[in-house]
Amino acid sequence: MEKVIVNLAYLLSASLFIFGLKGLSHPKTAVRGNLTASVGMLIAVLVTLLDKRIIDFSFIVAGLIVGALIGTILALKVEMTAMPQLVALFNGFGGGASALVAGSALMETHEPSIPFLLATVASGLIGAVTFSGSGVAFAKLQGLMKERPIRYSGEQIVKALVGLLGLGLGALIVLNPQSTFLYWILLAVGLVLGVLLTIAIGGADMPVVIALLNSYSGLAASATGFVLENNALIISGSLVGASGIILTNLMCKAMNRSLTNVLFGGFGEVKAQSDDIYEGKVKATTPEEVALLLEGARRVVIVPGYGMAVAQAQHAVRDLFNLLESKGIEVEFAIHPVAGRMPGHMNVLLAEVDIPYEKMKDLDEINPSFEQTDVVIVVGANDVVNPLAQTDPKSPIAGMPVLEVWKARTVVVIKRSLSPGFAGIPNPLFAMDNTLMLFADAKKALQEIVNALKES
Ligand code: NDP
Repeated sequence: MEKVIVNLAYLLSASLFIFGLKGLSHPKTAVRGNLTASVGMLIAVLVTLLDKRIIDFSFIVAGLIVGALIGTILALKVEMTAMPQLVALFNGFGGGASALVAGSALMETHEPSIPFLLATVASGLIGAVTFSGSGVAFAKLQGLMKERPIRYSGEQIVKALVGLLGLGLGALIVLNPQSTFLYWILLAVGLVLGVLLTIAIGGADMPVVIALLNSYSGLAASATGFVLENNALIISGSLVGASGIILTNLMCKAMNRSLTNVLFGGFGEVKAQSDDIYEGKVKATTPEEVALLLEGARRVVIVPGYGMAVAQAQHAVRDLFNLLESKGIEVEFAIHPVAGRMPGHMNVLLAEVDIPYEKMKDLDEINPSFEQTDVVIVVGANDVVNPLAQTDPKSPIAGMPVLEVWKARTVVVIKRSLSPGFAGIPNPLFAMDNTLMLFADAKKALQEIVNALKES
């Protein structure tokens, strides 16, 4: 194929990736953004396969059919709550593929240049870490492995030594490019490092780790792009690398934790303490009582959290929203940036049931309005509405921005028990004077409130 045509096609696909990412920055344009970037990737893959005469058309068509089939089945079958582990698998395969492609290029090249070797080593090491790290992240989130961080004495030294061994092997490969077996040892060391780095992190921190591994998979792809001198791969890898690290940073900020704390802090070790903050102070309520409260309200704010996703209560939330609006009650949604277990988790679930985007308010926008709110309904959220973040400097969530729901006239918290959320700490909100606890599965409780409202 003409070099100019190939490069123009790569330029087109790179532009589509950038427009795709831009689209992904807002829920309204996210689906279109996803499609745009997929078309970009399709063009890049087709052009590469045809240009290098790797396979003919019949294989490309067969690949497209098989790939589209697997993708469609996965998309239809995977639960929203299982999305992080699916992304982990994708990242892992991306990293593994980059490492293998760079390795095979090394085997085929007779007099490799230094930049080629450096890129190959980077791709191998980062790709292998991404592959095994993502495997562990998947296993933890899927419940195949204990979620608890695995800690041992001398842990940081062991990790540092394995990391140094990887770098040393990399240097050896650059100096002795003919000893290709060293590359496979490098991959093995990378795999061990990926496991060591990820087993030390608690299951609930995995989404942050997955965002970071996503960035690594981009870096590995980009390095492989340098190995193959393929511009599309260099650009797409860099875009993934950069967006992954931006996302990691945003998630850490929203939890008020440094990346070092996520990676080395062993968060999630804290066990729920049996404490007396609840004793004698918690008031339970019923769906009928909540319906009465809502009848008399002018402004209601709904705060969704991880429990809404677990209960798949978004349809019931939508029914309640429609009913309240039809009664002339103003309803808004307070969306905390890390509510749930992945970025945008709540937005996606609410968008799925057609809640208008303009009703979803982020933390800074909604916090000043709680004082003018009659009823707040917290649906399976816990840490994101925990006042300890502001009052207890020793708390694991100290400094994390939270939704100040306690400033509303009445707060109804729907959850099944007084069990803690991800951070493993008690929540004094549940024992406040203006809080009522509705102990039930979120979906069932909301359906019962809707029924009671309809009957009243
Ligand atoms: P939490 O994990 O703090 O609390 C969720 C609550 O939901 C639990 O206390 C649980 O209580 C309740 N729940 C579970 N199942 C149900 C159900 N079927 N019906 C009703 N309630 C249910 O969730 P938040 O959304 O408040 O906070 C998210 C946490 O996750 C934050 O600490 C955040 O830092 C962390 N995190 C978020 C990430 C993200 O990207 N969004 C990434 C990594 C971590 P009970 O068992 O009593 O029902």
